[in-house]
Amino acid sequence: MSLVRWSRPSWARAPLLQCCRQVGARQPRRSLHLAPPFLLDDYIPRYQLLSSIEASKKRSRAYAHLSNCNLCPRLCGVNRYETTGVCLVGADVKVNVIAPHFGEEPCIQGHNGSGSVFFSGCNLRCTFCQNHDIAHQRNGFDLTPEQLAEWYIKLQDTGGVHNINLITPEHVVPQVALSILAARDMGLTLPIIYNTSAFDSLDSLELMDGLVDIYLPDFKVWSTNASRRLLKAVDYAAVARESVQEMQRQVGDLCFTADGIAKKGLLVRHLVMPGKEAEAEAEAIMGFLADQVSKDVFVNIMEQYRPAAHVGKPRKERQRRRQVTEPGGMQREVVEDDETHVRYAEINRPVTEQEVSSVRKAAERVGLWRFNDPPKHDGFAI
Ligand code: SF4
Repeated sequence: MSLVRWSRPSWARAPLLQCCRQVGARQPRRSLHLAPPFLLDDYIPRYQLLSSIEASKKRSRAYAHLSNCNLCPRLCGVNRYETTGVCLVGADVKVNVIAPHFGEEPCIQGHNGSGSVFFSGCNLRCTFCQNHDIAHQRNGFDLTPEQLAEWYIKLQDTGGVHNINLITPEHVVPQVALSILAARDMGLTLPIIYNTSAFDSLDSLELMDGLVDIYLPDFKVWSTNASRRLLKAVDYAAVARESVQEMQRQVGDLCFTADGIAKKGLLVRHLVMPGKEAEAEAEAIMGFLADQVSKDVFVNIMEQYRPAAHVGKPRKERQRRRQVTEPGGMQREVVEDDETHVRYAEINRPVTEQEVSSVRKAAERVGLWRFNDPPKHDGFAI
């Protein structure tokens, strides 16, 4: 298959050249708000560089995984052509929404949006899931890998999006691998984003190696206790540590082209959670990123946590029953929620500015410096 080279169009080249001339040789290039080690002249998506032999090997391994699925850390061992495991998804993918999306980081969504594919289902069971209606319910429509590939092409050709953003793909990695390989034969040239909870196995990341350009993992919690209580996966933190290191090994630090759009690398998200314990967990995560991933890792410290899913729901045993007398004298039993006894009460509130700022300071203390801040200039923060 022919390789498609990415070249900056002439309209994009002219302002950059002009800008360079204005700055002149006396000033460092950093004054353009570009970080030279992370600036790419050009970019070819990694799946375009795979040989046909490597692509065939990936296809065979994807089919093999589907017929004996131990692909994520749940290790169900089921034949997904016949049944489903913990993720409740078989050999076809279930998709909730496919559309250009404008809720991502500026360097991901750009001006035209990120071509997002929201997969239904998940291999985690986060009690506070912010996408509960998509991740915990099997809403959506079934697609084969080839049909999924056709959607990538529609997002590229009709939507004009900057990338294909695969959201919650951990449980559909074989189908996603097959879809990317099918889409490259149909003419896909956009970078692929793997937007994950980080509850991935090394096997699935190995299958995605060479197919993904940007890894976009959450790093949710640090301790075994929090993993067990809040995510219902006792090994989450250990798996996430290993996964994020492997992602960094594959794609390195986040890099951009001169239009400010991210093209390759690792972007780690951390959703700040309420409470002192969560603050300590966040500090440990930042320390790990700085010491064992990269001081130059690009981090989005997110402040939009809100109680959702099971958080704040009344405990069943805390419901009150009382008798009321209706007009006419009829007695009726009423069941009321006792609002003072709710589930996961420790995270049943939004985060404060002070909590967000404290995580940010902790990140800076350990030497991290690339954050998803609003730009202090026209354009995107890079
Ligand atoms: S991807 Fe689904 S079936 Fe496969 S191991 Fe994970 S939860 Fe089980």
